[in-house]
Amino acid sequence: MNTSTPPSSTLVRKPETVLKQVFGYSEFRDGQKAVIDAAINGQDSLVLLPTGGGKSVCYQIPALVLEGVTIVISPLISLMQDQVTQLQALGVKAAYVNNSLAREEQQLVYQQLHQGQIKLLYVAPEKVLQREFLERLSHLNVGLFAIDEAHCVSHWGHDFRPHYFRLNELKQRFAHVPMMALTATADKATRFDIVEQLKLQQPYIHTGSFDRPNIRYTIEEKFKPMVQLLRYLKEQKSQSGIIYCTSRKRVDDIAEKLADAGLNAAAYHAGMSNEQRQFVQTGFARDDIQIVVATVAFGMGINKPNVRFVLHYDIPKSIESYYQETGRAGRDGLATEAIMYFDPADIGRVRRFFEDIDDEQRRRVEEQRFNAMASFAEAQTCRRQILLNYFSEYQREPCGNCDICLNPPKSFDGTLVAQQALSCVYRAGQRFGLGYIVELLRGANTSRIRDNNHHELSTYGIGKDKSSEFWLSILRQLIHQGLLSQDITQGASLRLTEAARVILKGEYALQLAEPRLQAKHVYQDKLAQFNYDKKLFARLRALRKELADADDVPPYVVFNDKTLAEMAQLMPTNDSEFLKVSGVGFTKLNKYGGEFLTAIRHYLATN
Ligand code: ADP
Ligand code: ZN
Repeated sequence: MNTSTPPSSTLVRKPETVLKQVFGYSEFRDGQKAVIDAAINGQDSLVLLPTGGGKSVCYQIPALVLEGVTIVISPLISLMQDQVTQLQALGVKAAYVNNSLAREEQQLVYQQLHQGQIKLLYVAPEKVLQREFLERLSHLNVGLFAIDEAHCVSHWGHDFRPHYFRLNELKQRFAHVPMMALTATADKATRFDIVEQLKLQQPYIHTGSFDRPNIRYTIEEKFKPMVQLLRYLKEQKSQSGIIYCTSRKRVDDIAEKLADAGLNAAAYHAGMSNEQRQFVQTGFARDDIQIVVATVAFGMGINKPNVRFVLHYDIPKSIESYYQETGRAGRDGLATEAIMYFDPADIGRVRRFFEDIDDEQRRRVEEQRFNAMASFAEAQTCRRQILLNYFSEYQREPCGNCDICLNPPKSFDGTLVAQQALSCVYRAGQRFGLGYIVELLRGANTSRIRDNNHHELSTYGIGKDKSSEFWLSILRQLIHQGLLSQDITQGASLRLTEAARVILKGEYALQLAEPRLQAKHVYQDKLAQFNYDKKLFARLRALRKELADADDVPPYVVFNDKTLAEMAQLMPTNDSEFLKVSGVGFTKLNKYGGEFLTAIRHYLATN
């Protein structure tokens, strides 16, 4: 704690009051209050909370409670704009300065700043460090520095920004101003780096759980991924989602196929122009684009709270990326899904990729990270337990909200099907790959089979009664167990190993996993925790979109889905009832109350 602790008389309002009146929430989440108090008392702090954990409130409330202005350092223009739009909609005096602003606009902001009309100013790190800006700050009453996405100071992460590295100059120049660093990055090296680099003084540290209980993790075996994908998307109706793929080419390809299938989807990758990317990101935020097919380039700037699914079409390169990408789902805390398509053969493909990395040390790190990802994908135990253990957050109990917990794997005596598959490979001369063997087993009538005279083999069609997916899964398991080997130089043709002989002779009973043919997506009503009126919800949603478009802001800036669902449940008909809905503060009551209340009353009168 330092000497500049403001006397309590300078506190304009109490944190609890601000939470309710401005943000419309009745209670702090775990840890928020202590962090807020630390800042108000002039102490530095480090806030580690997952995406959606409620970090923003931690510095926004001190900003409103303290005198003077709070300077928020944020690495991306789109993040700043989004935060400022949301704050303004709450009636908070917030602004940003960065290079996207015209000179006159910037001057206007400075003018307001010096007149004490701005409570939160968002600034890019390169801007804040400019001599001229630092000079300006020294004439202002700065209450707090908040460093958002603070992991950008660290060399360990992939988001390293050189300017973040120099932010310790702030601490040198403004030693009496408390600094709060915030990040959703979970690893320890990064945390240590943040305190070091920013020169935080005896910071109050809050580490929340990194669990995202509202995300349902599912790993689905990849069979015909495009068919699987279309089936899944059809179930999602109009809900927003992101599909991650590893290459730009695949992104373009899939986005086009989805559009052909009549879906509202767009591509996003670093090969597109800035304008194109901006167009997609804005369209997505505004619910004008439902699905974004993207590479990892679609990242940090996505503040949209109602992403209802994140689907990995290919296996990501590390658990860190997987966690970060899946973390973009469900920031609003409502139920959400993270799905990954997994083909065991992709493990080999990705590993061969690493061979091209020249830097020995880097290659080794990448390989290790990927190995952890691969074993996560192959594991047959609770997904969340593995994830959290990886981030050193030990979990004793399985989670009950992942595909393994919901639909536990079963094994069966696979001796007979293994014999059928193995002898089919043998009789065809051990010259063919997975796809062909599946066709043979299923007795497919193809010209290739007829040309090879394979329709005359005794094993032709012995597996007719089972699906292609079933056989593909069995063959993959036989490879995995070392009964078949796959020769990549020979068109991935399958060969029997020594061990296969024991099985063929029936000398050994083989346990196999029952193929998980389709993840059972019991269609989840993602708002199921609310017992709300769906018809009214749809009306309110349409009204929200109308008001948002009129104000040229994303719909979630008006109200988020959670607030809307609560309205459709509680059906408030007057101002004081309306204020009880979570997410409704004074400004939003004044601004939108009339129209939403009219819609609800009208609905009640006519239904
Ligand atoms: P983060 O920055 O950690 O990703 P946000 O600050 O965007 O998360 O918060 C996620 C969501 O939770 C937002 O919709 C926010 O308004 C909401 N939220 C934050 N604090 C509370 C609270 N105390 N009660 C209810 N909702 C909250
Ligand atoms: Zn689980």
